[in-house]
Amino acid sequence: MTKTVNHVVTRPGRKHGDADVQIPVAQDLSTVPGIRQRDADVSFYSRVYPQETQNIEKAADRQWVWSVYSEETLIHRKRHDEINEPLVDAAAVSGDLEPTGTPTGEDITEAIRLKARELGFGEAGFTKFDRRYTYTGKKRWVKYEHAICLALEQDYVQTQSLPSMDAEFAHFGTYEIEGALTLDLADYIRSLGYHAQIHSPNDNSAPYIPMFVAAGLGQLGANGQLLSPHFGSRARLAIITTDAPVTYDEPVDYGLHQFCQVCQVCVNRCPGRALVPDKVWWRGVEKNKLIYERCRPVMARYDGCAVCMKVCPIQRFGAPAVMEHYVTTGEVLGKGTHLLEGYTFLERGYFGPGELPQFDRQFFEIPHGRNEEWLFQQFKEKLMNEGLPPEEEIVGFAKQVRNILVKGNSTLGDE
Ligand code: SF4
Ligand code: SF4
Repeated sequence: MTKTVNHVVTRPGRKHGDADVQIPVAQDLSTVPGIRQRDADVSFYSRVYPQETQNIEKAADRQWVWSVYSEETLIHRKRHDEINEPLVDAAAVSGDLEPTGTPTGEDITEAIRLKARELGFGEAGFTKFDRRYTYTGKKRWVKYEHAICLALEQDYVQTQSLPSMDAEFAHFGTYEIEGALTLDLADYIRSLGYHAQIHSPNDNSAPYIPMFVAAGLGQLGANGQLLSPHFGSRARLAIITTDAPVTYDEPVDYGLHQFCQVCQVCVNRCPGRALVPDKVWWRGVEKNKLIYERCRPVMARYDGCAVCMKVCPIQRFGAPAVMEHYVTTGEVLGKGTHLLEGYTFLERGYFGPGELPQFDRQFFEIPHGRNEEWLFQQFKEKLMNEGLPPEEEIVGFAKQVRNILVKGNSTLGDE
């Protein structure tokens, strides 16, 4: 059934130098530019319940994953960390570096965008760095007010094999390339006479997606990821903040906010049943809220899972083709096909449309919260079940808590 087109979005082509593309947005998919949000609520939650990075808030399960990784994953992760660490360290101090050139005072938005595209970033957009989203531990770290949002596409072919080690090579390899490219772009901004602070994707200063949406680079998908027009969520996100004179982009309605309610492929295909069909209001934003505790045990044991990325038609075919198909037929391109929805799950085998792996309740029992919180939780349960433990055990518990507190929290992570 043909749909009426409400508006057409024009975007630059996928690669630098490619022709612009047109994305028709059907009337029944049209909502608001970006995402529905209640600004006062976003401000309230940021003030009263400020967010902290999951690398701290959920440190217990982040540590646990290392105990269930396969041998191959362990080797690869260690190798990746060796390569990536210097890039993350360089990003952490990048905001302190002084400019190397002389500023002209002219708006340099398009110069930066051009350079970013030449370097290979698929998307580059500008917005205010929204401090309401800044993680507690990074509040004093963020120096400059303008955010340059940068998305680097991950290899297409490798990604379609998700979940697999090959796709993990693409995932972590993209971070390594992105780390180096952001250093280059920041150097370029300094050569124009301005400061540039790199917000690494592996040491996040905030959830970056809201700023990407504000910069018009996509909309939030039901899979909890940024759906950018050319590659959906098959991209790694970084931000550079600067004091350079730039002009902000505007959020865009690609029709994706509503399209997810029609599509639902990731929701139906998620092996952990971690994705929810309906949108809820969460911290002032209307979204499909992922259930972390249902996702994490699957991700950790099955090569990073990311079935929700693999089966997304926007990732697979791109928004221009998917939206064109919807306008012409009223249907979701690829929905119900093995090509889009099928995946292989390690030793469990192949799962086609309508088929999901099963897990028992125990599978989802993993450590929760911060390391010290998890320790307290276990201690409480022991007290309840076994009564007061011997004195040396109590002292041992106190020592463990102290070690965790002395060691402190790390903001680093790279999922
Ligand atoms: S990573 Fe896997 S388990 Fe987690 S939300 Fe995506 S599909 Fe579901
Ligand atoms: S698979 Fe469908 S519902 Fe899920 S994020 Fe992609 S477009 Fe949205």
